[in-house]
Amino acid sequence: MDDFIVSARKYRPMTFDSVVGQQSLTTTLKNAISSGKLAHAYLFCGPRGVGKTTCARIFAKAINCLNPNSEGDACGTCESCMAFNQQRSMNIHELDAASNNSVEDIRELITQVQIPPQTGRYKVFIIDEVHMLSASAFNAFLKTLEEPPSYVIFILATTEKHKILPTILSRCQVYDFVRITTKDTIDHLRNVAQKEGYTAEDEALGLIAQKADGGMRDALSIFDQMVSFTQGNLTYDAVCQNLNVLNTEHYFKITEHIINKDITQCLLHFDSILQKGFDGGIFTGGLASHFRDLLMSKDVQTLPLMGKSRQWQERYIAQSQHCQPKFLYHAIKLCNDCETTYRTSRNKRLQVEICLIQLVQLLEDEPPASGRSPENKLKPIQQTTGTNESSQQPSSAPAVHPATKVAEPTPNISVPNKPVLSSFNRQTEQAAKPKVMSGFGPSLRKQKPEQKTETNTDTEQPKSEHLPLDMDKFRVEWYNFIQSLPRESQAMAQRMRDMRPTLMGDDTIGIEVNNTQVEQYMNSILPTLSAHVRKVLHNDFITFKIIVTEVQQATLKYSKPELYNKMSATNPFLNELKDAFGLVIE
Ligand SMILES: [Zn+2]
Repeated sequence: MDDFIVSARKYRPMTFDSVVGQQSLTTTLKNAISSGKLAHAYLFCGPRGVGKTTCARIFAKAINCLNPNSEGDACGTCESCMAFNQQRSMNIHELDAASNNSVEDIRELITQVQIPPQTGRYKVFIIDEVHMLSASAFNAFLKTLEEPPSYVIFILATTEKHKILPTILSRCQVYDFVRITTKDTIDHLRNVAQKEGYTAEDEALGLIAQKADGGMRDALSIFDQMVSFTQGNLTYDAVCQNLNVLNTEHYFKITEHIINKDITQCLLHFDSILQKGFDGGIFTGGLASHFRDLLMSKDVQTLPLMGKSRQWQERYIAQSQHCQPKFLYHAIKLCNDCETTYRTSRNKRLQVEICLIQLVQLLEDEPPASGRSPENKLKPIQQTTGTNESSQQPSSAPAVHPATKVAEPTPNISVPNKPVLSSFNRQTEQAAKPKVMSGFGPSLRKQKPEQKTETNTDTEQPKSEHLPLDMDKFRVEWYNFIQSLPRESQAMAQRMRDMRPTLMGDDTIGIEVNNTQVEQYMNSILPTLSAHVRKVLHNDFITFKIIVTEVQQATLKYSKPELYNKMSATNPFLNELKDAFGLVIE
């Protein structure tokens, strides 16, 4: 059996041209070599695994080659090149500063610097992770770096450029290595797969590229793992499973449910994802990326930024037809916010569920996307008045109060209905109450405040809105309001999350609090809270009742001095005892 060589080593580039994703940089280096204008110190900066050390080695080999070609590449056949290829060249020294960062290590290096090369022209010293050198090692090194012998070239490499002292930076030619793009990574991996005789789907390679995040070494080592997991047949599904990545199909499906404004299916699908053992935070992060890709697919120019194959691009384009850019902006923001607060949230599942509900609401607030009429089954109340589709009028007419029909204005046909979440609309019996219905007609025309001008032609000026109060919808707004509270109110916000507002009358919501301090706070924010829910729920009659629960009040904790005062009030001897022993209560 052949010895297995990891792909990152086996396919380590040997020439500048085979270095992936750093074209402009390798061209500059080649030009420097062919024109003979070499600096005595270089600094290679960039993320891990993008080819810094590889380029340093190729560079060292090229400048020592006895017959370099006109483009600055090593011949690969001369004595010096052979020595490099067989890793026995005496002209290259590598020092890993991460583990050899003491003054002694640098002194040893300086001794090496003094010895001229036996064969070839240059001695190249590669110092990896140079930012890890200790301060004293740096100082010991500075003098040599400034005035090295003519046959010495230093190549310093670092992942953290900002940690390099200005004194070092000013003595080096700086080269910034960039993250390797997903496309370049996929191309390279495909190449390796072909050479090794593996089959690999582009999407599978895309997943690996994403996971490697711009590092080729990481990409190749993940690739090796996947090859051994899948016996050389890298399908998208298999790689998804092994990398524990959520299949993109789920995101397409969830987005479809959102577009259909089907909250029930959204929540059920999310549940099935949790059942598979995936983390809700990863799900929201992935959903944000999915919306981002949908946004990218709306414009031909941004299409390549997705880094997906043609086949997948078409699927994204198809789905993006049903999403307005504005919805996508907000959706990305919502998912991103949810992902940020997810870690600190106590009820993580609810956090994601609220996010999904809000995503559906985003669409409900929007005018319908082209070619897709709003799903009216979700809005039973408005539907009964026939404001959206006149064809539905006959069947729904009996349910409508006569006054509503008289006041029904024609311009409102184009006005999209305000959302009423069918799945959560369990308060439908409220809609049937005559009291509600009397105020219902005029309120319809004011469903959207900005549409007010359209109703001005009416003789009857509605003064207030009065849609029936839907508690499920209210709870969503309650959480929205809590999330909008300023940072300094986070402690109170946490208490509010634990509160369970209940419906006490037609439009009265009871909020139980367990002490007067919370009561005071609630009273202070009540005007803002009322204004918010009245506006969003289109009901100007919503009132709140703060109830301080007695049971909780009795169990309030006393501080030690309070307790003492209370005890001493009933038993004055305590004071004498306290004075006699000189006790202090604190
Ligand atoms: Zn050569």
